[in-house]
Amino acid sequence: MKILTLNCGSSSVKYQLIDTSTGEKLAKGSVERIGMAQSILSISTSQGKSKKITKEILDHTMAIDGILHLMVDKELKVISSYDAIDAVGHRVVHGGEEFKASCLITNEVKEKIKENFKLAPLHNPPNLRGIEAAQRVLSDKPHVAVFDTAFHSTMPEHSYIYPIPYIFYKKYKIRRYGFHGSSHRYVFSRLKNFYDRDLKELKVITAHIGNGASMCAIKDGVSVDTSMGFTPLEGLVMGTRSGDIDPALILYIMELQELSKQEADSLLNKHSGLIGISGISSDVRDLEEEIQNNSYRAKLALDIYCYRIKKYIGAYAAALGGVDALVFTAGVGENSSYVRQKVCEGLEFMGIELDHEKNNEKSKKERKISTDKSKVDIFVIPTDEEYIIAIDTEKIVKEKKE
Ligand code: ADP
Repeated sequence: MKILTLNCGSSSVKYQLIDTSTGEKLAKGSVERIGMAQSILSISTSQGKSKKITKEILDHTMAIDGILHLMVDKELKVISSYDAIDAVGHRVVHGGEEFKASCLITNEVKEKIKENFKLAPLHNPPNLRGIEAAQRVLSDKPHVAVFDTAFHSTMPEHSYIYPIPYIFYKKYKIRRYGFHGSSHRYVFSRLKNFYDRDLKELKVITAHIGNGASMCAIKDGVSVDTSMGFTPLEGLVMGTRSGDIDPALILYIMELQELSKQEADSLLNKHSGLIGISGISSDVRDLEEEIQNNSYRAKLALDIYCYRIKKYIGAYAAALGGVDALVFTAGVGENSSYVRQKVCEGLEFMGIELDHEKNNEKSKKERKISTDKSKVDIFVIPTDEEYIIAIDTEKIVKEKKE
């Protein structure tokens, strides 16, 4: 099947056209600056062709229309007509407690996504706007929703209930949900290429470390804990987000600096983490470079960043009762040998032994980077959330036809 995957943000749409029979990405690209002057529409095809157009794109409907026009463009020839697209898979960030798996989008599903606006005010509204726009443009195709939270719906209560009055969970659904579910699920599934055993027998820790970052503990093939919580702010230190802090701090700072709710939110989500500590950049590449120039704060930022990941490995090893595999993925996890080394340093006592030569190899391929005698296998596996969206969409469309 040919599946169009869409990831709609408030002013952007990222898309891919995936042939699920081969896994080939026939085309991918994005629309940026929707609703602003000079929106940018881009495409690159599996045939090595690419195009970038700057024009006014007022809304998501125009954006998706523009994407489809590019796909049937005579020069690019990705598909001959819209008919070649079998279905559309949409990334939806928050599925709340209702959505434990991907599903066909009906009016009822859209209502439920809307109900979850309050849980993900920055993400679910543009996700739904994208769904409605795509349904307008491709009205005769099935549309499927794939939720970032779904993979973590298997977490046990002791992982997801916060130690605050229980009434907040019952009344307002305040609990830990976790995010990056499709990424954790994807990299876990790729372990099939390295083991003859059933993956359900493995205790696995996956570390998705990109701009946003989260870790996941996987046992019996399902997520049993993850580091992001009610929002994507909890857990690891991130590019611009604080991750775990003493919650009393924010009340103290709000009073000290007379911050509004919005200012406090922005402080924790946009001005903390690596950028907050270093004062230099949220990008690990910049900080690695600054460390070469002996920048004290760049080093401090990455020390804190790696130390937090290391602590979560310890915590999840305890939660799982052991660990067979540790997987690094996403921008930093896939590319920074520095971070991987700092994280694994000192964990030899628990059987985590990095092979430094393999760790330093520059490669885009999925690979094992632990020594042969390491009790825990360490992997780098490039993530592919779109692939999960495509295969889920195909499965649901096929089930519907049967
Ligand atoms: P997002 O969460 O936006 O999807 P990504 O997973 O693409 O983020 O990760 C982006 C981050 O990956 C960048 O901010 C940068 O810190 C990091 N990164 C990318 N390439 C490298 C590299 N070669 N070395 C170190 N860090 C890198």
